[in-house]
Parts: sequence; structure tokens; C-alpha cells
Amino acid sequence: MKKDKAENNAAGPKAPKELRGESVVLGWGVGKAYMVGRAAQTQGSPVVASISREEVGGEIIRFNDIREKAHRDYQKLKQDLDGDSAVDSSILATYEYILDDPAFIGQVVETMSVKLFSLETSIRLVSNEFIKGFEAADTAYFKERAGDVVEVCEKLVSYLNNESGRAKTFAEPVVLVVLRTFTPTDILAYDRSKVSAVITTSGGKTSHAAILARSYNIPVISGVRNITDQIKPGDEILVDSDKGVVFVHPEKRLVDEYARQTHGEAIYRELRSKWDRPVYTKDGIRIEVLANISLPEDVEDAVANGADGIGLVRTEYLLSNRKDMPPEEAHIAYYEAILKGGRGKHCTIRLMDIGGDKIPQFFDMPQEFNPFMGWRAIRIFLERKEIFETQISAILKVGRGHDYSIMAPMVTTLQEWIEAKAFIREIASRLGVEMPKCGVLFEVPLAILEMGMFMREIDFASIGTNDLIQYLSAADRNNSKVNYLYNPVEPAFLRIIRNAIKTAKDNGKQLSICGEMAGHPLHTVLLVGLGLRRFSVIPRNIPIIKEIISNISFAEAEASISLIDVIESTDEMLEWLKNLNNRLIGDVLKKIPNAEGAV
Ligand code: PEP
Ligand code: MG
Repeated sequence: MKKDKAENNAAGPKAPKELRGESVVLGWGVGKAYMVGRAAQTQGSPVVASISREEVGGEIIRFNDIREKAHRDYQKLKQDLDGDSAVDSSILATYEYILDDPAFIGQVVETMSVKLFSLETSIRLVSNEFIKGFEAADTAYFKERAGDVVEVCEKLVSYLNNESGRAKTFAEPVVLVVLRTFTPTDILAYDRSKVSAVITTSGGKTSHAAILARSYNIPVISGVRNITDQIKPGDEILVDSDKGVVFVHPEKRLVDEYARQTHGEAIYRELRSKWDRPVYTKDGIRIEVLANISLPEDVEDAVANGADGIGLVRTEYLLSNRKDMPPEEAHIAYYEAILKGGRGKHCTIRLMDIGGDKIPQFFDMPQEFNPFMGWRAIRIFLERKEIFETQISAILKVGRGHDYSIMAPMVTTLQEWIEAKAFIREIASRLGVEMPKCGVLFEVPLAILEMGMFMREIDFASIGTNDLIQYLSAADRNNSKVNYLYNPVEPAFLRIIRNAIKTAKDNGKQLSICGEMAGHPLHTVLLVGLGLRRFSVIPRNIPIIKEIISNISFAEAEASISLIDVIESTDEMLEWLKNLNNRLIGDVLKKIPNAEGAV
């Protein structure tokens, strides 16, 4: 059993300081800084994990295994680079030299056996010593070697974090400080109950990592400058993402003050107990609010929050923290848990959206300059049908007797969809099961602009606004620098959404919106006014969206919306929307926690 604790800082209390950042996921949290990513271990007192004496032998074997693995990876990289005259691959020999350095190996083994620190902690502490030594050297050549140790250390640790499929846990709450691109693995690789908040160098509000963090109620702040100068491993941190502030070494008084702020939580709990039932607008129109989920354990959360069904299962998360492609049994267990847990309510299962920022570590993905515009989702499906055959067979087998449907992500052309559907049909007839209802996630501009063409080939439609906005605005959803262009209230975008809702309605097809936009209180009146009858949002937002809907008159919202044809700019649209919200639901929004910008 591992036991974690923070190494003591002998220097006594440190001076408090405040840093500014940008809110990506709202909320607050307090914990010890745990650095993730390159150069993570170079200064400070890392949060350490201890092991028992009996575990030492196993950790030494793991150490040898991961050194071997690193050798193989560096050699493969060298072979790949050898034909490329523009790249100097000699640095790889230096990395391999460090891996075999008897001093490095000996000190790591000694730290494990004598101090009873885990392999990761030992690698980090020993690397720290090496790095300090190199940084203090007189010559530039030796100073540069510090960076090589960082590389090797992070490489070794990266195998450890992903190898077991078990989430890494801590004895006390931590704030993850992510020193590279924030990815979904940063949420899934750690015990979520111990992660109080995340600080990242960059990351947009609809990045998949942010969506996961939001689902699990973990606040995220990005864009803090010079993080490694400001925050050291093990520092006490308080993150207030509502205000965009990070407090380093906060005074106890301040931490206590935050801990007493339970107002938002109380309102949320009150709404949750109220909305375990369907919601109708004031003029009696039924609006469904479904849940977006990723993992089987999320179903319970969806049910507890009063979901009218599951509107989106991001099935690619079945592949996270795995060493290889899951066999059919793993797929079956995943869908069984989700369909049985859903208490007979409808469930829309999306085929795996592999690619973009969701690349399983074992997947042989080509290097891409633009992964979000590259080989992703249905594009991989159509080329590697055998992978999706396993998934589809499992869904069809488990689905018997359940109310479910299948949805395909990232469809661009009708031809792609026809080919994918034919493949699903082929598997269904081979298994002798009924063809389920099948639909398309409209998130590529070409597809949504030609939605009418798809109508006779789909049973339902959903709109993935997260991707759709990034493709329409050419603004990367992961890049907080271009967030100003990534805007759900952009007039041209709203008109596209309105047309899509109308097309589906005119053709008698059900349509939902499952992008993050649908879960934000700012947009509820707007979407109802545009004619949306099915929202799909993270579980925690379901009671909030239902509460707002119950205070809206459908007819009034619809009548107010005609103005979107004359409004020209995003700023004007935002201003108009805030006034509209204020007029129609101002009182409700005022009492809802974090309905920021909504009134
Ligand atoms: C979307 O793009 O809006 C969507 C729901 O899919 P994802 O966020 O998983 O890309
Ligand atoms: Mg998408």
C-alpha cells in the first residue's frame, strides 16, 4: 500500500502571494501543488509517495522494465530520424547514457530501499540532485545537461503514470499544476477525489480536459505566467477560478473563509432534489435535459441529477489508461454498466471519437500538424473498421432490450455516413439483432450546412457545438489565446443553429445539442427560443438548466429571438442576450451559482 505525504519544508511559513489567471472551469479548491509535465521535478519539495519494505523488490523490477522501455523508444526514434538530415539525433545517445549511468541507477535504488519512497518519487528526487549539480556547473555544456536529465526523468515517470490503469492517489488533496498542454489524461490518471483544482499554462473552456474537469467539479485556471518561478512542488495553493486568482501559501484565515462558503453548494443541492422529474416550460412544452457522460461511474451522477436520459456517451474514454485496444469483453462490460445504470431511460452511444486531443497511448497515430482537422473519429472508423467492429458488436449485443441509439462523430459527407451505417447494418444482420436507431453528430460545417441531405439517412441529429464553433471560426478550442473568436453567441453561428433545428423539425427528426454551450445558463433562453427541445449537458448542470427552463415561456422566448437576424456583432448579441435574460429570468439567474455573465 502506498502512503502519500508532503515533504516538510524546513524553512517555516512562506510569504503569501496572488497570481492571476483565466477561468476555464469555475469553482475553488485548496491543496498541495503537484507538478505534472516537463521539468516538473526541478525545484521545491515534491509531494512524495511512500512504499512498504515488501514493495521495494517490485519497484526495482519496474525500474529496470521502464529503463528498458525507454531504451527501446529512443532507439526507435533514432531509426525514424536517421534519414532526416535536418535533425541531429545524437542527443538520443546522451539520454541513453543517463539511463545506464550507474550513479543514477544506484541512487534511485538506494532511495527506494532506504527511504522507502516510491519509484516515481525516487526518480524525481535523484533527478533533482543531478539537475541541481548540472545547473551549478561553470560551462554551458554541463548546464545544458540539466535539460537532458529532465527529459529522461519525465520519460520514465510517464510510463509509470500510464502503465497500471490505476488512478494515482494521494493522502491529501492536491492542486495539479500542468506544465504542458492540459489533456484528458491529466484528469483520468489521478484519483479525482484528491484533485481539488488544476492550474495549466494553456487550455480552452471546451477542451476535452476542461469538459472532464467540469463534469467532476474540479476548477481549472489557465494562463498563469511563469508558473515554475511562482509555484514549487508541495506549496500550499488555493485556487479561486470564479475570480481568476491563485493564492500561493494562503493564510489560514483565507482558507477557512473559503471553506465556510457553502451557499452555492446548498442551492445546487436544493435544485438537485427538486429536479428528479421532467421539466416543462411555463406554457407547458416538455423539454428534455439529458446527460453527457464518459465513464460508467458517471451514470450514477446523471441519474442523481435527474437526467431524462443519456444524450452522449464519449466512448473513447474506454481507451484511456490502457496499454492496448480493449477486447470485446471490456466493451461489453462498459456498455452493460452504462445501459443498466441508466434505469431504462434512453441512451445515445457515440462511436469512439479517437484523435484530436484524445489519442490513446497505445494507438499508432501518425504525427499530425493539425490533429483536430486530421485523422479522427469516423475517418479512422472507415479506414480501420476492425477496431470499430469490436465496439459495434459489443453495443449491439448489450443493447438488446435496451432503449438506445448509435451516433457517429465528425461526419463530413453523406457518403461517409452511408458507408458507416451500412457497416453497422452488416454487423447487426450477422448477429441477428435489430438495427438500432442511428444518427449523426453534426459538428463539421459542411455537414450541418447540408443537413437537409442527411435527413432521409438518419433517425436523429445532435449538434456538437464544441467542434462546430472551432471549425466555423477557425479558432482552436484548446487554445485560450484565440478564445475571443470562439463564441457561441456569434450571430452567424446562431443562424446556422436555428436553420439546423428547423430542418430537423420539418423532417420530423429529433435533434439535441450536446456541446458545452447547452449546459451554460447564459444560453438556455436563447436555445429554447431557437426551438431546441432536447439539451444534453454535464450531469451537474442538469438541475440548473431544468430550473431555468421551468421559468421560461416557450412562446415568449421564441418571439424574442427574431432579433438575431438583425444583430451584427458578437458584442451586440451578448449585450442583447444579457438584457433578454435579465428581463425573462433575471430572478432565477441571480440565485444560481456560477451563472456568470448571465445577468
Ligand atoms: C462537440 O464537439 O460539441 C462534442 C459534443 O463532441 P466532443 O466535445 O467530444 O468533441
Ligand atoms: Mg466533437
